[in-house]
Amino acid sequence: MTGPRHYITTTIPYVNARPHLGFALELVQADTLARHHRHRGGQVRLLSGTDDNSLKNVLAAEAEGVGVREFVDRNADAFAALRDPLALSLDDFIRTSSDPRHRTGVERLWRRCAAAGDLYRKEYEGLYCVGCEQFWTPDELVDGRCAEHGTEPQLVAEENWFFRLSRYADRLHDLITEGTLRIEPAARRNEVLALIAGGLHDFSVSRSHTRARGWGIPVPGDPEQVVYVWWDALGNYVTSLGYGSDDPAYEQWWAAGDRRIHLVGKGVVRFHAVYWPAMLLSAGLPLPTDILVHDYLTVGGRKISKSGNGTAVDPVSLAAAHGTDAVRWWLLRDVPRVGDADFTTERLTARADADFAGGLGNLVHRIVTMVHRYRGGSVPPLGTDRFAVATLLDVCREAPGRIDAALAGFDFRRAVDAAWDILEEANRCIDATRPWELAGAERRGNSDAAERLDAVLAALVTACRVLADELRPFVPESAARIARQVTSVDGVLPEAEPLFVRLRERR
Ligand SMILES: [Zn+2]
Repeated sequence: MTGPRHYITTTIPYVNARPHLGFALELVQADTLARHHRHRGGQVRLLSGTDDNSLKNVLAAEAEGVGVREFVDRNADAFAALRDPLALSLDDFIRTSSDPRHRTGVERLWRRCAAAGDLYRKEYEGLYCVGCEQFWTPDELVDGRCAEHGTEPQLVAEENWFFRLSRYADRLHDLITEGTLRIEPAARRNEVLALIAGGLHDFSVSRSHTRARGWGIPVPGDPEQVVYVWWDALGNYVTSLGYGSDDPAYEQWWAAGDRRIHLVGKGVVRFHAVYWPAMLLSAGLPLPTDILVHDYLTVGGRKISKSGNGTAVDPVSLAAAHGTDAVRWWLLRDVPRVGDADFTTERLTARADADFAGGLGNLVHRIVTMVHRYRGGSVPPLGTDRFAVATLLDVCREAPGRIDAALAGFDFRRAVDAAWDILEEANRCIDATRPWELAGAERRGNSDAAERLDAVLAALVTACRVLADELRPFVPESAARIARQVTSVDGVLPEAEPLFVRLRERR
């Protein structure tokens, strides 16, 4: 394999509750990017995992009256089990509390930053939001409450280890403005630059062993403290590759890789675009190349929350009820690049029915039926009279480049639109060329009509094949179904079959 090396990661969610559709969005986006780059001949490594070592998990386990280990394992399993229902082509899945690669890597990262002189002990008193797992300054709160969770943070006073974030403000600013560290969309990049311009404060990177209930990775050389869960969690992006345990593998994908791409939700931008790059600079490691930020899903206008405010939507049940590709398709086609998207089951099924059974299914069925009716199932040569199909062939030829550009800009909707233009142009081509009339003229001995019918049918089948090929990263199973229908076996296309069942008739 020689194509460019893309290392693509999702965030690793806390396992304080079961997964919801909001995280499925990130997983499906990351998987689509991974499949896309593999499809174009790149080398890809796709990682997800779970963030086990948080105090939030400890408190959730206590509230449920089960042991932390049992609780974390059970919920982490639920995240790992998203792989099949969402058709995720994961290469790796890391669990921070049990993966032997993780702890040694986090310890090494800590020691490297300590050796750089960036870790020091300090008495500290601050307002801690357990939901965020972070300290907030009073001016960052809204009416004394966490803006993200709406809860009052607790006052915590203890001696912690601190990381000299302030030292890296100028370099981070330069790396982001010059595009070495790319943050998309632009509004998020500006948000990070504003945060840096406002002044970066050193942040606490350990917790007392007691407050952490003994859960987490002990600070190297200071067992009375455990490593702050965000420091621990961010480390997964390199520990999973073998940083600290298998250096050649780490080198291959991180240090010597072409792109290091993190997909993150808008709520955790500061951790990924400020804290993490600063930690890497301190440790003397390369930075991520791309931080791609998605907004949130809402249900009926309310943010989806794992911890039960009635808006949790289970991606596994959705996929079981409506199909994996229906879920992927809604997430990729209807969620805008910027701005929250509102989910309802009605929207998901309406979209799937309109586009699968209505759009793709109809088009492919019509075309295959015509090839059988007029050419005995064998796809004719494109011939020389391509005037009537020139636009369709152009759209097919341009689609891959448009999809590449859209995905490079982290715009899944625009990528899907580029593929969809093939379908729309194919339908226009059928309406404009009226193949049934060409067939009638051919029967009356018109050889021009016969040649034109050849060209039209050949171009339409080509369009279906390109469509199937280009849709593969987005809806792998449906794309494969279309590909089978338009692939000749012994010189003949398979008989036309209905490819998609309408979801709303099935219910
Ligand atoms: Zn919070």
